[in-house]
Amino acid sequence: MSTACITDGPEKYRINEIFYSLQGEGYYTGTPAIFIRFSGCNLRCPFCDTSHQSGRMMTVSDILSGISAYPSRHVVLTGGEPSLYITHALVDTLHLQGRYVAVETNGTHPLPGNVDWITCSPKFGLGDMYGCPEASDAAVCLTRCNELKVVYMGQDMSVYDGIEADHHFLQPCDTGDRDRNISLLGQAIEFCKTHPSWRLSLQTHKLTGIR
Ligand code: SF4
Repeated sequence: MSTACITDGPEKYRINEIFYSLQGEGYYTGTPAIFIRFSGCNLRCPFCDTSHQSGRMMTVSDILSGISAYPSRHVVLTGGEPSLYITHALVDTLHLQGRYVAVETNGTHPLPGNVDWITCSPKFGLGDMYGCPEASDAAVCLTRCNELKVVYMGQDMSVYDGIEADHHFLQPCDTGDRDRNISLLGQAIEFCKTHPSWRLSLQTHKLTGIR
């Protein structure tokens, strides 16, 4: 890949980790992908799998070096909440490297217009089930995305009707409680059967024991 025209300003990004694996969830499940996990989020979901306290400051060049060995075009900017940090220039630079840029966002903050794929996983609508009032109140500013991926805890699904998406995925929450997980899986399956524009998303990276 060319290293010409790298847009590398003074900015540094707090990166929790960079790793190469298969996308475990949603539309691109099974796709080899480079994950760039940003540290820091405006929400505090109880089941979050990111340590927002850890991370190292990286320039764009550092990030490009960090991903250079990986052959997949597919890059996933995830978090943390990447929309708080990523810029049009960073996405442009990844494009110049031949990468396809997907972003996973909670939808509470605008994104640069040049990303290739938006997965919106809103956290509002979960109410008391969630134990996190700030997440329950976190209104989504995105009105359109490629993929709407709802973490399911039995909430009223009509709250997501205002978000336009090409693809709809319902993903049972991993609550850490086996019996509750089985119940949520059954409910999610029934919901998809009765609302066939929705598809089931499973966390296949956990099922397969990969990252
Ligand atoms: S929105 Fe995502 S990154 Fe932020 S706290 Fe919730 S699960 Fe973690």
